[in-house]
Amino acid sequence: MTVYGPRADCLKPLNPLRPAAAVLGRHVHPRRKRPRPTGRISSVHAIDPGPASNKLLAALPRTDFQLLAPYLTSLQLAEGTVLHEAGGEVDEVYFPLSGMISLVVVMRDGKAIETATVGREGVVGAMSGLGLHISLVRAIVQLPMFGSRISSPQLRKIAASSKPVADLCVRYNEVLLDHARITAACNALHHIEARFCRWLLQTRDRAESDTFKLTQEFLSEMLGVRRTSVTEVASKIQADGAISYSRGVIKILDLEALKAKSCECYETLREQNGD
Ligand SMILES: [Zn+2]
Repeated sequence: MTVYGPRADCLKPLNPLRPAAAVLGRHVHPRRKRPRPTGRISSVHAIDPGPASNKLLAALPRTDFQLLAPYLTSLQLAEGTVLHEAGGEVDEVYFPLSGMISLVVVMRDGKAIETATVGREGVVGAMSGLGLHISLVRAIVQLPMFGSRISSPQLRKIAASSKPVADLCVRYNEVLLDHARITAACNALHHIEARFCRWLLQTRDRAESDTFKLTQEFLSEMLGVRRTSVTEVASKIQADGAISYSRGVIKILDLEALKAKSCECYETLREQNGD
């Protein structure tokens, strides 16, 4: 088997023609590029929803969407998959169709903290469509998900001839900057318990489920705190009856109680996402 890169064992291409064909019918041209090698994914459990389930793609004028569709490949992405590394080249752009991707700033000593999350309202790496080739953050899959992938050079070609596609890249970058500003303020000003609850609520929305898998190691990285702090907070919220947390699986038992414990940033970020 040919291995194309370190991420190849985490990616599982689906039939690359099916989603675009489902949307565009017989006008779709077959995608000639060979899909990446398949890999094993144990925890993806849904049916590919197709590219139109991404809100940015769905909002494009049909003729502009048709420019992209033949080059979009649907993939299953396992949690923990690193799509872009901080400081690395962005050669592919991902439109989430479900699940959640975290954008994480990585310090020189390896410590990291989340600055934004991206679900099917967004896109990861889109500024490479306008020539920004280096990722400023690590993009890591938080929840098992489906995504539509397009190569950066191809997106660049299309953005050069389609104003709506170019606008999509710029506008969503502005949204991400706003997310980063809110998250920076949240990390600095709000108590870890409120941030923990905000994060669980965001994840619940993206997972579209009250139950999801999260390790303490992952949570500590996203919140920029020690694992022991995550354990203490999780235990306290569990004792209050808002969640259960066992063996890396979180179950939200009392949504309203969790909202009451969360900071205002949950609602602010939801509004920005148009939810
Ligand atoms: Zn906050």
